[in-house]
Amino acid sequence: MIILQKQADWKHFREKILPPGSTTAFAPTMGALHAGHISLLNKSRELANITVSSIFINPTQFNNEADFIKYPVSKGEDILMLEKNNCDFLFLPAQKEIYPQPVRKDEYYELGYLETILEGKYRPGHFQGVCQVVSRLLNIIAPTFLVVGQKDFQQCMVLKKLLLLINANIKLVICPTLREKDGLAFSSRNLRLTTAQRKLAPEIFASLTNIENLISQKNIKMLKEKAILHLEKKGFKVDYIEIAGATDLNPVNNWDGKMPLVILAAAYLDDVRLIDNILTGA
Ligand code: AMP
Repeated sequence: MIILQKQADWKHFREKILPPGSTTAFAPTMGALHAGHISLLNKSRELANITVSSIFINPTQFNNEADFIKYPVSKGEDILMLEKNNCDFLFLPAQKEIYPQPVRKDEYYELGYLETILEGKYRPGHFQGVCQVVSRLLNIIAPTFLVVGQKDFQQCMVLKKLLLLINANIKLVICPTLREKDGLAFSSRNLRLTTAQRKLAPEIFASLTNIENLISQKNIKMLKEKAILHLEKKGFKVDYIEIAGATDLNPVNNWDGKMPLVILAAAYLDDVRLIDNILTGA
C-alpha cells in the first residue's frame, strides 16, 4: 500500500504511473477502522482496478466539539489493517491539505429538507461539513466509484444529492451495514463504550428489528413510541426512532404493506451517540 499525504502526489500517480484507463474505487473514512470499513474496501476491489481509502477526521462535520475531540484515533492499527486487506493507496492528509483556507461562508450545498430532518435536525451543520470534505476529497481523488455504507443512510442520500450538485461523473455504491454477532452495527464510536454500555448497545438494532416484525400488524405511531420508551428504560437518551420511505426519507404513518421502508434510530449511551437503520418492505 502506498501512503500519500499530498494531493499532488496522488495526481502524479494517477497521471504518470497508473495504467491509462484504470478505474478507481474510493472509500473515505475517519479512521478507527473496523470490519465495516473493510467491507467497503472488499467491494471496492470487486468494482475497480485500483482501491483508494482515506483517513481524515473532518472537523467541519462535528456539530459538537467534544465529540470531535474524543473521536477515536488509531492510525498505526488502521494502516496495518488497510495493508492486510490489500488497499492500494491510502490518502492521509493533514488538515491544511484539505482546508488550506477556512471554509468560505458562501460555500453552501442546497440539500433541501434532508438537512432539516433526522440527523440534519439533531446535528445542525453536519451535512454541510460532510459535503465540504467529500467534495474536496472527490476533487482530489477523482474516482470512478465512491463506496459508502448504508449504516449512514441519510448521508448516502446527501452524497447522492452532492454528486448531482457538483456535477460529478462518479458512481455512488452503497454497501450493506456490517454487524457484530449480537447485531450491533460496527462503528468507530463503539470503542468509546464502557463494558456495561457495550452490552446494552445491541438494544438499538433489536428495537429496529422488533418494529420490522410488527409493522404489518401494529399502529406505526405506537410502535415508535414503544421503542423509544423501551430504549429510555434501558438507559438510552433517544434522539429519534423513525419509519420513513426508503427512497425519500419522508415519515410514513400508514403503510400500504408494499412501499420500501427504512427504520432509523439515533440514541445516546452517556455521551456516545449511536445510529443505525434497517431497510424493510418490498
Ligand atoms: P466513518 O469512518 O464513520 O466516517 O465511515 C466511513 C464509511 O464507512 C462510511 O461510508 C460509513 O457509512 C461506512 N461504515 C461505517 N460503519 C459501517 C458498517 N458497520 N458497515 C458498513 N459500512 C460502514
